[in-house]
Amino acid sequence: MKDTPQYQGFELGPIRPPSEAGSLLLRVTRNCPWNFCKFCTLYKGKKFSKRPVFHIKQDIDLLKKHINRIKSVPFSGDFRSINLMPIVESTPKEELPVFQAALHWYRGKMVSVFLQDANSLIIPPDDLVEILTYLREAFPDIQRITSYARSHTIARISDVDMARLSAAGLNRIHVGMESAADDVLKLVKKGVDKATHIKAGQKVKQAGIELSEYYMPGLGGAELSTSHAIESADALNQINPDFIRLRTLAVIDFSELAKDARAGIFTPVGDLEIARELLLFLEHLDGIQSAVKSDHILNLFQEVDGVLPDEKDKLIAPVKKFLSMDLETQMIFRVGRRAGIFSSLDDLKNFGLMAYAEEARDRYGITVDNIDHFTEELIKRYI
Ligand code: SF4
Repeated sequence: MKDTPQYQGFELGPIRPPSEAGSLLLRVTRNCPWNFCKFCTLYKGKKFSKRPVFHIKQDIDLLKKHINRIKSVPFSGDFRSINLMPIVESTPKEELPVFQAALHWYRGKMVSVFLQDANSLIIPPDDLVEILTYLREAFPDIQRITSYARSHTIARISDVDMARLSAAGLNRIHVGMESAADDVLKLVKKGVDKATHIKAGQKVKQAGIELSEYYMPGLGGAELSTSHAIESADALNQINPDFIRLRTLAVIDFSELAKDARAGIFTPVGDLEIARELLLFLEHLDGIQSAVKSDHILNLFQEVDGVLPDEKDKLIAPVKKFLSMDLETQMIFRVGRRAGIFSSLDDLKNFGLMAYAEEARDRYGITVDNIDHFTEELIKRYI
């Protein structure tokens, strides 16, 4: 018989979706059970494991204890005036991470929880139902419990089990679709095909769970850009997810995809090609009611934000506007955006921000000919 692993304390995984900034992060598995995607280095060299259910329950018990301690502090409604020093000082050192997680969640009004790491649905459904039930009983006011999951995993879960997970309170699943073009999925070793993406997405929707699908502009490279955009839009049209989220590709130096780029198998594209691809993708979204969000720092256009079908023109407008600009104006926008000076195309009309962007352009000697190299380097700061 295997030894029962000892509880090692509250654990925190490395990432969450941008939309889960205020959520409690509850780690139910460690790392990624697939770990082959060529563009992803997040869990490379790290072994996947499922945390025992009783460890996760201990995390929840500890969170509850610290939430109750925080709630016991007199509070005027202004977080700046709350004096937490007495409870910080009386918190055992080994419980400081869970205290900090509890405090962060308390400040976020304790409405949502995100289950970490890369694919929580790999947990046997009985165990996941037990965790969800325990969590909801401990904190009955939670409004949303969300998780990342792979399409490959979801597609293998029975409809009955998906309905049980939904009934136990799993409200939203984030799927890193990235692409639905089979040639792109194969190239980047996503471990899934278009049909499986569609099957998984439809299954989540059918279970009454909100679905957020990620599309990765640039992942087809120069070679597969068109099929990447069109096939991905076609899959999403068949799924009709609640959210379509954009997360632009950044080729990380030591990734497998960077090796492919050096070998000439994959040709990374710059902002201009990505804008053209994004326009093609958005134009092909059809017959769905999804909200499209561009809430990742790597995206060139934050203002691509709207609900289909009524706001399709609004979604497309900034991309078209950018593509209609002369090269010099496109370049200054890219400099401003990638240097964190601009947040939208409207900032080009702001004299103060323009002065900063022009200063950055002059300081780094950026021209229309070397801008791709400059943005590539700046993007790496955000990874
Ligand atoms: S499934 Fe997600 S976390 Fe795992 S390797 Fe692929 S992109 Fe990375």
